Amino acid sequence: MKKIFLSILLIFFITGCGHKEYYINTIIENSDSKVCAITYPVTNIKKLDKQVISYIESQKEKNFKELNIDYTFDIIDDRYINIVLKTYMDETFDIQTFVFDTKKSKFLEIDDLVSKNSLITINQTLENKSNKNIGYNYDKLTFDENFLYFYFLNDVGIETVNVPIHDTEFLLDIGIPELEEKLFSETKKTKVIDPYKPIVALTFDDGPSKYTDDILDVLSENDANATFFVLGNKVKNYSNTLNKMLANGNEIGNHSYNHRELQVLSEEELLFQIETTQDIIKEKTGYTPIYLRPTYGNTNNFLKKNSNLEIVLWTVDPEDWKYKNSKTIANRVINKTKDGSIVLMHDTKKRSLEALKIIIKKLKEKDFQFVTISELKEVNEIRKKLGIK
Ligand code: ZN
Repeated sequence: MKKIFLSILLIFFITGCGHKEYYINTIIENSDSKVCAITYPVTNIKKLDKQVISYIESQKEKNFKELNIDYTFDIIDDRYINIVLKTYMDETFDIQTFVFDTKKSKFLEIDDLVSKNSLITINQTLENKSNKNIGYNYDKLTFDENFLYFYFLNDVGIETVNVPIHDTEFLLDIGIPELEEKLFSETKKTKVIDPYKPIVALTFDDGPSKYTDDILDVLSENDANATFFVLGNKVKNYSNTLNKMLANGNEIGNHSYNHRELQVLSEEELLFQIETTQDIIKEKTGYTPIYLRPTYGNTNNFLKKNSNLEIVLWTVDPEDWKYKNSKTIANRVINKTKDGSIVLMHDTKKRSLEALKIIIKKLKEKDFQFVTISELKEVNEIRKKLGIK
């Protein structure tokens, strides 16, 4: 049996808390019967590394065709190490998390992070945000300056639900960005949508770009919101723009990592495209998208089965990539938009920005409200309950 064994050590960074050296280790094993790719951090803290290795070994002992373990690794306040290990094994998933206090040299659990009073709030948030009964299950969690993250397994994979630290009595003394977080939650609460008036969901693909901030300003000036299906490989350079999107009440969706045609990819490549993008967005904003717009609008059965993201296409396409004139683009949107429409645009072109100004002005005259995809779905539910057609 042919077996290739590769172990790659990368120096992640050399300074850090406790003057320890950190590495990211990758193990790739490939034989006729199985493949295995494992990436995980080596912290040089014995207690922590032992637990990480022990988890990995327990996964490797199982019978599988493909094992893939990916990681996230964050150090909060130069003291608290958060590690998530996500395992993909032949269409099943598993998750393990570690929160480690390097000063006290101990693993932290929910009781170390928040007061007992906060547990009810947390559970309510988890049950609201997740579709299933969580049942006070907090053993898979991490945190950063903005959120507590809770991880659960569901039928299609790993679900992450975040709870704002501001909603809890948080026990650790870390630098929490107070004002920004307040602004974020207040903006979200004050929006009122009238289910009796027409709604439209504007969506922007392929960004962010240098035009996105201007688009956000136009939306904001008009009390309008939209959904941005972003590319993962751009997020790092536009993290301020993404945070502004959310602070203004807009929604972020996943549009793959680097715009590969998803239908021709292997399952592993597909998951990379989707999960990497999810992770980067979460890393930069604390928000985890729930919608996916597949590239070129091509849906994929594998995606439908293995991604817990809901696929969102569109009903109005002005082809702003093809038509060079902003008025033409605007007219194509205005003429085709009906109550409940989802409009496809791109925040990568100046003409789309110009078209947006006309679109909002004209549709506002027709009483349209500009909503995110989630809001569109909420309004549809409310209308059903109220019996509004
Ligand atoms: Zn696209």
